[in-house]
Amino acid sequence: MRHLALHWQILIGMVVGTLLGVGLNLFAGMRHVTIREGLPSGITMASVIDTSARTEIRYTRVDGQETLRVVDPLTRAAGEVTAVDALAKLDPIAHEIYQAHGVSLAKRLGLWCKRIGGLFLRLLQMVAVPLIVTSLVSGILGLGGGEGVGRMFRRTLTYYVITSMLAICTGLLMVNLVRPGLRGAAPPLGAENATGHAASLGDVLFSQIEALIPNNPLGALVAPDFLSIIAFTILFSLFTLRVGGTVLERVREAASVGFEVMMAMTTAIIHLAPIGVFFLIAYVTATQGVTVFKALAWYVLAVSLGLGIHACITLPLIVRFFAKRSPLEFARAMSPALLTAFSSASSNGTLPLTMSSVEQRAGVSNRTGSFVLPLGATINMDGTALYEAVAVLFIAQMHHGQNLPFSQQIIVAFTALLASVGAAGIPHAGLVMMVIILQAVNLPVELQGVILAVDRVLDMARTTVNVWSDACGCAVVESLESATPVVHPNSHA
Ligand code: ASP
Repeated sequence: MRHLALHWQILIGMVVGTLLGVGLNLFAGMRHVTIREGLPSGITMASVIDTSARTEIRYTRVDGQETLRVVDPLTRAAGEVTAVDALAKLDPIAHEIYQAHGVSLAKRLGLWCKRIGGLFLRLLQMVAVPLIVTSLVSGILGLGGGEGVGRMFRRTLTYYVITSMLAICTGLLMVNLVRPGLRGAAPPLGAENATGHAASLGDVLFSQIEALIPNNPLGALVAPDFLSIIAFTILFSLFTLRVGGTVLERVREAASVGFEVMMAMTTAIIHLAPIGVFFLIAYVTATQGVTVFKALAWYVLAVSLGLGIHACITLPLIVRFFAKRSPLEFARAMSPALLTAFSSASSNGTLPLTMSSVEQRAGVSNRTGSFVLPLGATINMDGTALYEAVAVLFIAQMHHGQNLPFSQQIIVAFTALLASVGAAGIPHAGLVMMVIILQAVNLPVELQGVILAVDRVLDMARTTVNVWSDACGCAVVESLESATPVVHPNSHA
């Protein structure tokens, strides 16, 4: 195993983890028990049927009164809930019975896998902030003054906007072709599952601008608030360049020393990726059965097709023509980051891996990588933008029984772009931002409940596309930068 290239090790971890999880789900994913002892006081008998798709808890009180509680991610029925956490609030007794006696072996082991895989994610989070700061400072100090930074910033933003719009167009095309919401296989709608609260588009955008000016930079480091950290670090570096002289030399020295150490630490952590990925994927496959996907199969298909086209056709073409690189080799170099993005569903969590893969395996310079990637992990989310567009149109198709008119689809496209900029690089962030788009086209936000059941797996796929697009952006910006070389006495790459 030790002689095998890292991406093969991670791939093996992923495949073995998937097999284990699916096996657990098949053979230990169901539990049916009748309990007469050890119940909460006042309860004489209880029974639980637990499967990955649905859980039923029935209990009888001393006075003979019987209660039935159902947890089903696809439920729209009154009095039923979509998640175990919601059950704890609705009926603490049922929740207690379920936790003590009813959880299937697959779910129990799955949650342990999540905790162990979580250790790997914690290690990545541990290095993220110091790595971003040292990398960004040493990268910008090598950019050669204000114009160098300005030019790279313009190029980076242009890349972000163009690829996100391409992703959204692909998504719209897919949802109009596949028409998942008009196929009648989706679960019935109801208004029970209110998710998230509504924030207006203006509010969201303004809060992004506010985040660019942290009132306490140290607080932003502690939070950690990535947009604030990036904004402050860029300013700090620009003013270091302006002060110049020995100050510049010292800051550059300190940043590059810190960066070297953080990179060494990250590289060491990355060697744990095969194990981390194994546990994370085993958790997802053990706890989520295939049943939940069946009802939403057309929708999952539309999102997956869109993501597949963007990741395997559009972005590789951009890499081939604008970065003049082999997309396949570039993807191979990026595979540790892509596979980790897939299993963790977090761009921010994957960031240290993305940075080291881009710089150490794909040969992109630190000045490009350290600028394009942290910014990209926060604001460039092609996969999320595409997913938002498909999901909202799917919901609209189910709600209205027909496609949204073209003018409304334009609004969806535009708000999806902004929502993807606003989404944090953490699991399920896209789901939260979707509220904005639903509101923009007057759809009830409760309808989002329908797609909750399959969000995790789609989150994994869209996060991979988000990270892949950031990496491709690095290759493109790097190639454009090298076409216009920066001549600076102190520049370093
Ligand atoms: N999980 C995604 C990411 O980290 C964001 C999203 O939910 O779409 O990139």
